[in-house]
Amino acid sequence: MLFSSQLSQVPIQYAKGVGPKRALLLEKLGIRSVEDALWYIPWRYDNRLEILPIRNVVPGVKVTVRGIVEACRVAITSRRRLTLVTVIVRDDTGVLECLFFNQPFLKGTFTPGVSVLLTGMVTASSHHRGNKLIMKAPMYEILDEDDGDQEVGRIIPIYHETHGVSSKQLRRILQGILDQYLSQAVDVVPESLRKSLGLPSLAESFPVLHSPSSERSVAQLNAHETSEHRRLAFEELLLLQLALAMRRTSLDQLVEGVSFSPSNPLVTRFREVLSFSLTAAQERVIREIVLDMSQATAMNRLLQGDVGCGKTIVALYAMLIACGAGYQAVLMAPTEILSEQHYASLMPYCEKLGLSCHLIKGGLSGRAREESLALLQSGAVHIVVGTHALLQPDVRFHRLGLVIVDEQHKFGVLQRARLREKASWQPDVLVMTATPIPRTLAMTIYGDLDVSVIDQFPPGRKPVLTKLFMRSQRKAVYELLQKELEGGRQAYVVFPLVEPSEKVDLQAAVEGAENLQKALPAFRIGLLHGRMSSKDKQHVMDDFQSRRIDILVSTTVVEVGLDIHNATVMVIEHAERFGLAQLHQLRGRVGRGQSQGYCLLVHGLGSMEGMERSFSLTLEGMPPSSAGITWPMPPPEMSRSLAKHRLKVFTECQDGFALAEEDLKIRGPGQVLGVQQWGELKFRVADLVRDVSLLKKAKDVARDILAADPELHKSEHSSLRKKLMMQWGEKFSLGAVG
Ligand code: ADP
Ligand code: MG
Repeated sequence: MLFSSQLSQVPIQYAKGVGPKRALLLEKLGIRSVEDALWYIPWRYDNRLEILPIRNVVPGVKVTVRGIVEACRVAITSRRRLTLVTVIVRDDTGVLECLFFNQPFLKGTFTPGVSVLLTGMVTASSHHRGNKLIMKAPMYEILDEDDGDQEVGRIIPIYHETHGVSSKQLRRILQGILDQYLSQAVDVVPESLRKSLGLPSLAESFPVLHSPSSERSVAQLNAHETSEHRRLAFEELLLLQLALAMRRTSLDQLVEGVSFSPSNPLVTRFREVLSFSLTAAQERVIREIVLDMSQATAMNRLLQGDVGCGKTIVALYAMLIACGAGYQAVLMAPTEILSEQHYASLMPYCEKLGLSCHLIKGGLSGRAREESLALLQSGAVHIVVGTHALLQPDVRFHRLGLVIVDEQHKFGVLQRARLREKASWQPDVLVMTATPIPRTLAMTIYGDLDVSVIDQFPPGRKPVLTKLFMRSQRKAVYELLQKELEGGRQAYVVFPLVEPSEKVDLQAAVEGAENLQKALPAFRIGLLHGRMSSKDKQHVMDDFQSRRIDILVSTTVVEVGLDIHNATVMVIEHAERFGLAQLHQLRGRVGRGQSQGYCLLVHGLGSMEGMERSFSLTLEGMPPSSAGITWPMPPPEMSRSLAKHRLKVFTECQDGFALAEEDLKIRGPGQVLGVQQWGELKFRVADLVRDVSLLKKAKDVARDILAADPELHKSEHSSLRKKLMMQWGEKFSLGAVG
């Protein structure tokens, strides 16, 4: 029997009409095998069942027309410096004008005389020579003479293109592949399961996706909501959920964990020295953690909680459970400043409890580092805090019992594994994150973790007042700053750091600091940026902490986790460039003490008036978020109102989770999670925003399958298992399984 996975062994170059040269181009789209090509589904479909004569085009309706390019002009607008490309197209019945924004290269595409298909909405604009029809940013296709009827009269799939491979060529390649290989596409999802879920087979799905018949609903195809789309997405989600679950069981079985006593003199003493009482939510997650730690299997828990909800104390509690039993604990954070901060907040407790706590940093001199490492290995150090530096092989423990990773989303799944490998048994693992990760994403990336949530703030915390300012209103920002600073408070001013031009950003921050100094001459300003040595950074942080600096201007206060209670104002410059989750992190730096916190967003988006109206327009026509190679650029006004909408939402919402969901919808998972983490978990068809319910289903199904057949050795699972190993085996070290 042939497995569909064998199509993954057929190099794309052997498909009809491909060859070695084009194969190299296709590789840029991630297409290496015939199977890759089949899974490379269109991001959009054009309804070309009907081509309208230009004369019959009605304004306000989406239409497709076909004509000859008569002229193409490039101009730059004086006001907003947009590049406008105007293309004049004529058919036998009339003339149409097309406008494209910021794509000057189109001049080379729309050369006079070529035949084009255009799909879009037409508006009528009055003109001194009468009315004219304008189609803004239409979808287009250049037609060749030999296209014949292939390109019209049916529903046409549109693929993401790359330089040298057009959508049209992809259609032909896929047609050839369907003819030649479809019969070999065998399902990895067992038939009985498919039937019970009402999903079609793979061999039924590919033709629909790559060559839909005219009876299909274009709207449904475009929304990627056909059962054929769901079939493909389901397979991807199922494979990942199976991999996560199998990895988890294999870890559990590998070696015994430590069974800690739920109570010991250290924790008793800790409760006595604690100057505040824990919130109900803190108590609840502590119970969950302690219960896990008392089991013989290793803990694998995610602790989620908004910034400032008090995760550090909970982490310390868990460490005391381990230390009280004679084990060591390690806390890893993504940046030096954060690990310093953790170290500083743990130290007072450790001193009172007679525990030895060390900080291991990258910049540590050879001698000091060796000393610390030796103490750690001898067991004289109970708790160690640090950055990735902790992952180095010479960092060895005497008896490592608990691994805590803060801001996990900054680390990959694989780094977490490396830390836990430093014990010869299974240490308990607690992952903490303040970045509110939407439930959908959490289920995916943390599918192998149990989740605890702190959903309550320590008493007395007031919501941070959040306000938007246009750049021209900066004076009002200075006034508010001045008032707070005069009251003895401190402030952060943050500039975004946008690759690739770190230099320019730094310059913006330096100039920003100078302007600020001019506007507020009485106050002391410090500058923190990514190009400083960690020693200099620490110096500035110390100055801020001890109030030798009033305003901290920074390009890098993506240093989540700072805990300085006297800081009450957070000014964010170019706020439109930040993600919502990031903004929320920054906002969480203020309002930590008893006084009112302010978050002031300075943006370059112009007036916010009338923006709700335009917003509903903007989401339409955006490509599905997970499918992307080359998205057509949205016209500038589209991204503008989207950006306005995001900021508006932000001012009105203090709930990190809700903001993260919103961010996920608008910007997609890659942006929310950061590229590193997301790169590990890319789907070709599944979309974590759209396919939430499918994801839940996949999770349940994975659990049922493994309950009946833990290692997928039954014959009906053999192709499933094969594909699983191919896709995730290495990444999740599933080699041992089977
Ligand atoms: P995060 O969850 O962002 O890591 P922290 O652990 O840094 O939050 O806590 C934020 C601040 O709140 C710290 O100064 C901490 O001492 C304080 N805190 C934590 N728990 C409580 C509580 N139950 N009551 C009062 N203050 C608390
Ligand atoms: Mg913290």
